[in-house]
Amino acid sequence: MKKRHIIIGAGNAGLSAASTIARLKPEDEIEIISHEPWLPYCRCLLTYYLEGVITKKRLFSWGEEIIRKNRLNYRQNERVINVDRKNLTIECENRRQASADTILIATGGKPQKPDFPGADLPGIFTLRTFTDALAIEKKMRPGGRWAVAGAGLVSLKTIAALRRHNIKVDLFATSKRILSQVLDPYAAGLAAARLTENQVVINLNEDIVAAALAADNQLKLTTSHGRELLVDGLLYGKGVNATSPFGNENISRDDWGADQSSAPQPWQNAQDGIPVNSQLELDQNLFVAGDTAKIFDLVRRKNDRLPLWPLAGEQGLIAGYNMAEGTSHLAHHYPGGISCNAFSLFGLDFISAGYREIPNNENDWHFIEEKKGGSYSRLNFHRNQLKGFILCDSGNINSGHTNSDNLKKAGPLLARIKREALVVQ
Ligand SMILES: Cc1cc2nc3c(=O)[nH]c(=O)nc-3n(C[C@H](O)[C@H](O)[C@H](O)COP(=O)(O)OP(=O)(O)OC[C@H]3O[C@@H](n4cnc5c(N)ncnc54)[C@H](O)[C@@H]3O)c2cc1C
Repeated sequence: MKKRHIIIGAGNAGLSAASTIARLKPEDEIEIISHEPWLPYCRCLLTYYLEGVITKKRLFSWGEEIIRKNRLNYRQNERVINVDRKNLTIECENRRQASADTILIATGGKPQKPDFPGADLPGIFTLRTFTDALAIEKKMRPGGRWAVAGAGLVSLKTIAALRRHNIKVDLFATSKRILSQVLDPYAAGLAAARLTENQVVINLNEDIVAAALAADNQLKLTTSHGRELLVDGLLYGKGVNATSPFGNENISRDDWGADQSSAPQPWQNAQDGIPVNSQLELDQNLFVAGDTAKIFDLVRRKNDRLPLWPLAGEQGLIAGYNMAEGTSHLAHHYPGGISCNAFSLFGLDFISAGYREIPNNENDWHFIEEKKGGSYSRLNFHRNQLKGFILCDSGNINSGHTNSDNLKKAGPLLARIKREALVVQ
């Protein structure tokens, strides 16, 4: 029987689900909705667009091809404000209502916004969408000066773009080191040294606490150390919350019964993400995938958000199968994800996954480490089971391939972590 599917979100999770349904059930109707005024694009490439190393055409070609090839009914610039979980209907800001046999919530994430005095001033940016990238691009001027608050991956990729335009950068982090989520202290030290060599000023244990307008469209920033600096712009990169339709942060599959499910929910942030079962269902025929889903972390063995591009695609695929074929007879299960990051900082490349550090106060852990010239590898084991690694070298992973023997180990190591996580409990 022909079915109708609504997919809210046109990121990797939404598009992966849509193309899976289109392939399995070409006769089904698929509507995919995005509140952004653009065709879908590859969000991960936004900083490379700002850097000038890829064109706008390349940024968009991925999404355009998926929409065209699968003949999807794509509705851009439309914001969904309610999902009725029992009746499987949605309501949009423009008052359009629609119903479906299955719905996927793939609404991704929202950057945390600053809340210090002056946080709303022009010149203060977050980077999540192409609209954000255009605003940042407009403000960038060669020879200018920017501040970046937060030392995670999006911040550091944006710094590479700013430096490419010969813009001076001051990086502020409240933590004791940069990239604390994805590197251990030694690897973070290598990364910091590479940034310093490239004229990035790193200020640790220091934050921006206020902003005010200054002459010539500049901003005067005040730091937690009482220092002041004049900049053209501030990129605020302090993490991303889930974008979800359910206001209750503690919502869980067990919490919500048939009675509550009929009540329309306000569309709010639930920072922790929406919990799902292994079929990626919140309730029958209502699925969640990608950055907004709380899924099983195979390595840490707990439910969590793992906001990563490849994992959003994997989950979209599983959700797509289950939306097309139903979950009552032959459901597809998502075993869980492993956090893994590959990135390059001014020619120094890193790939890390799982536990980057050994947890404090836990027994039965050991590690194997090798430091040779500028290259570094560290493998972390728990009861002889590989739980995580960090590899670092100058291997040019941005070109899509690497000559570094060290970095080439990443694929087999990741496969081993996954294999052992699935087999050994
Ligand atoms: C600059 C940058 C660089 C990154 N680099 C990497 C990287 O190198 N590696 C990596 O693994 N990950 C990276 N990420 C993270 C990666 O982009 C995300 O993990 C991935 O995009 C998540 O996909 P998604 O489909 O879950 O959500 P998203 O890509 O966020 O898509 C969400 C979709 O939902 C829509 N939407 C949201 N709310 C509504 C609503 N109410 N109504 C209608 N539509 C709505 C949005 O318009 C959008 O289409 C990066 C992210 C950024 C911003």
